[in-house]
Amino acid sequence: MTAAVSACVHCGFCLPACPTYRVLGEEMDAPRGRIVLMKEVLEGALPLAEAAPHLDRCLGCLACESACPSGVRYRDLIEPLRGPLDAGRAPTARAARGWLIRVMTSPTRFRVAAALGAGMAHARGLLPASMAAMLALLPERLPAARTFAPVTPAAGRRRGRVALMTGCVQHVLRPSITAAAVRVLAANGIEVVVPSDQGCCGALAHHAGVGALGRAQATAHAARFPGDVDAIVATAAGCGSSMKATHTGGAPVRDLLEYLDAVGLVAPVALKAPARAAYQDACHLAHAQGVTAAPRRLLSQVRQLTLVPIADAGLCCGSAGLYNVEQPELARALGRRKADTLVASGASMALTANIGCLTQLQVSLAAGGHPLPVHHVAELLAMALPDGGAPE
Ligand code: SF4
Ligand code: SF4
Repeated sequence: MTAAVSACVHCGFCLPACPTYRVLGEEMDAPRGRIVLMKEVLEGALPLAEAAPHLDRCLGCLACESACPSGVRYRDLIEPLRGPLDAGRAPTARAARGWLIRVMTSPTRFRVAAALGAGMAHARGLLPASMAAMLALLPERLPAARTFAPVTPAAGRRRGRVALMTGCVQHVLRPSITAAAVRVLAANGIEVVVPSDQGCCGALAHHAGVGALGRAQATAHAARFPGDVDAIVATAAGCGSSMKATHTGGAPVRDLLEYLDAVGLVAPVALKAPARAAYQDACHLAHAQGVTAAPRRLLSQVRQLTLVPIADAGLCCGSAGLYNVEQPELARALGRRKADTLVASGASMALTANIGCLTQLQVSLAAGGHPLPVHHVAELLAMALPDGGAPE
């Protein structure tokens, strides 16, 4: 931690990259200010409780790391403090967070809760802001539950073999992402293993500072994956970045788009009709994993698809773990900004690579009266396969 603090030369280059600074305009809600606060906490000059409101507003998007010319590892500062921040909350707040994390990290529990929540949509105005914000993210109707074949063979010559993670929230809200990933991988000569009962990778608990639960979940999750694969493939950027830190010793963890870019597409990809798409970087893919070129290279190979640039593609959309629930106004403001830039780009669809971002973009676009379709890049690639159709 001290190395990260001393590497900061207070130049301020990170300020315009920081989503909370862009909305609030306050030094203490910018990376540079937060680093000063964390330094004072570390030195015992400031009680953590006084720094907590500013640190809690940090999305953990790590755009500050990408922007920093001095290579400050901001994550090395904020991540160790998430646990003490959680421990400092009121017992009722901790219990509520713990309950939410346990629900969201179990597809079975989350499906029940999401179905109940969707039924309460009409009462949203009567609920506390955090609850209302959570319900606003749920679709009116959940997609049907899906199971996946334990092994899907490669089409044609086998070029590789991977294990695919299905996710928790994604498995309930958008199982078509996993279905698309299986199709795209198999079409490109990759055998796909989908372990059953995967559990949670621990990313959500880890991000919320509930480290013991996150570690237990990560250990159990890793044990579900075979070792005789070329890679463990994640389709959710938040999960992938966490798994890269926690899955040690087995097959390497790769984001789906990173993996596909490395092995190369061999199946032809072409849309049935011309389309213009805007790609929104998921922070945990772009900033946490440094994967920005691979998705764009893959998309550039899709015939009839024009990739249009958007302003501030690297600025967070406001979705980060429990952020929508705990900081609903900031999350909404960031979602609104992102929706405006997507609409201004003239794109006919938005693409991203993380279920949280995808949901936030959908909700924010709809709230602004712009029901632009939003897809995971895997869904777009599956749609562009010779036997592809509209996304499910
Ligand atoms: S850009 Fe890096 S060195 Fe400059 S203020 Fe931000 S964290 Fe510090
Ligand atoms: S992680 Fe994101 S929100 Fe937090 S200080 Fe860095 S840029 Fe700002």
